[in-house]
Amino acid sequence: MSTTKLNSEYVVNNLLLIINNKLLGILDEIGTDYNIDSKDLIDKYCLTKDDLQDLTTSSTKRKKRKKRAILNDNDLCKAITAKNIRCSLRKSTGCELCLKHKNNIKFGRIDDNNFQDKEAFIKTKKEIIDGTEYLVDTDNIVYTFSTDLKNIKVLGKKVNNSVELHT
Ligand SMILES: [Zn+2]
Repeated sequence: MSTTKLNSEYVVNNLLLIINNKLLGILDEIGTDYNIDSKDLIDKYCLTKDDLQDLTTSSTKRKKRKKRAILNDNDLCKAITAKNIRCSLRKSTGCELCLKHKNNIKFGRIDDNNFQDKEAFIKTKKEIIDGTEYLVDTDNIVYTFSTDLKNIKVLGKKVNNSVELHT
């Protein structure tokens, strides 16, 4: 790979124009097809002059990607997926469902009365078994306990007040 830098302002600007024009079209299509705000995509993936310089040097430095915007509850599709969790796609304009679920709901909606988001809520209580703190749910499934409630894992089952480990 050539390590010659593109020094000419003129060349850089024109390349940028050509590449970004092409990118704009592609990102716009992706946005429509996958129901993502294409403005976000364009913001994130269109190239800057620095990106272009990186392409022409053998730099391994990667552009820091902006974190994906966290969607508000109100912006999310209300359909339930095959995994029995809420769909994570943005709802389409004027509708409470994303494009994928708009005309095709197989597993119901989160506002159905009997839906419980398995991923979001597992009712547990803290218990001390053999001197260690665990979380135990209503089916006596034992989880690791951590104060920040992160990285909680299933350990096993509570039987006769001790933990029978998952094998
Ligand atoms: Zn959906």
